[in-house]
Amino acid sequence: MDEAKRKAKAVVVGGSIAGISCAHALIAAGWDVVVLEKTPSAPISSATGAGLGIDPLSQKLIRSWLNQPQALEFSTLPLTIDHEQATDWDKKITWTLTRDENFNFRAAHWADLHSLLYNALPQGVVLWGHFFLSFSVSDAKSVKVSAEVIQSGDTIYIEGDLLVAADGCLSSIRKTLLPDLKLRYSGYCAWRGVLDFSGNENSETILQLKKAFPELGKCNYFILGVGTHSILYELFNKRMNWIWYVNQPEPDLELQLKSAET
Ligand SMILES: Cc1cc2nc3c(=O)[nH]c(=O)nc-3n(C[C@H](O)[C@H](O)[C@H](O)COP(=O)(O)OP(=O)(O)OC[C@H]3O[C@@H](n4cnc5c(N)ncnc54)[C@H](O)[C@@H]3O)c2cc1C
Repeated sequence: MDEAKRKAKAVVVGGSIAGISCAHALIAAGWDVVVLEKTPSAPISSATGAGLGIDPLSQKLIRSWLNQPQALEFSTLPLTIDHEQATDWDKKITWTLTRDENFNFRAAHWADLHSLLYNALPQGVVLWGHFFLSFSVSDAKSVKVSAEVIQSGDTIYIEGDLLVAADGCLSSIRKTLLPDLKLRYSGYCAWRGVLDFSGNENSETILQLKKAFPELGKCNYFILGVGTHSILYELFNKRMNWIWYVNQPEPDLELQLKSAET
């Protein structure tokens, strides 16, 4: 093909929220895109997982990528308010630290957002079940990427003009480019989850939660205590997103993984 007419090609590694979003942005800018994702198939909606807070600029971008922009409203809940409060457990008192009535985020479940974005991509952009192996830069202009097709064990090679590392916080591409970079511990560990309370709307737990946090459904609650903080907001389809952070010294994850294996 005439080099001048050839579309520039990007290889995106990682087909989660960042990778799929990158694919949309690049396609909108006129690029040819292939996404390599090691997961065998597109994830389907699940009750467990994570909530994501989408800020106004991200909402605008996501709507511009969707065939039906209003689909974002249909599968997310508003987070109009951001309410930050402190709690003294001993005295059993709570007071407001800050309150933003124009927060204007939206609350999405990871799998719902992923489906929305993925289904709006042209077919064939994402290669599921492809494990990125390595890349090499042959001249200053092009990059050659190798990946294993997990099902067959074959290795494939893809040439592109741009490599995007959307392979998560432990990115192997970043390790290749920045071998000496050490991740910095943020000072706390976090647990998170999604409670599906459909069918249990009138359970004691949900009624008490709604009593303590009456604006769930439109509000992001950030709750600060001594040595801990947590985040609570409701998701579409009767699900509650919670994150609980505990300040603690950095755990030795490698040691814990080894002892879990034995
Ligand atoms: C407790 C907690 C709370 C959080 N809360 C929020 C929040 O409220 N809002 C928010 O925006 N973010 C939040 N985050 C962060 C958010 O989860 C991450 O920023 C987000 O998931 C990162 O998305 P990503 O697409 O960059 O990476 P990931 O979701 O980690 O995706 C990386 C992808 O790359 C693929 N991959 C990796 N290696 C390879 C390989 N060799 N070959 C092929 N594929 C590969 C993986 O399978 C995966 O699909 C939170 C994180 C934590 C831990």
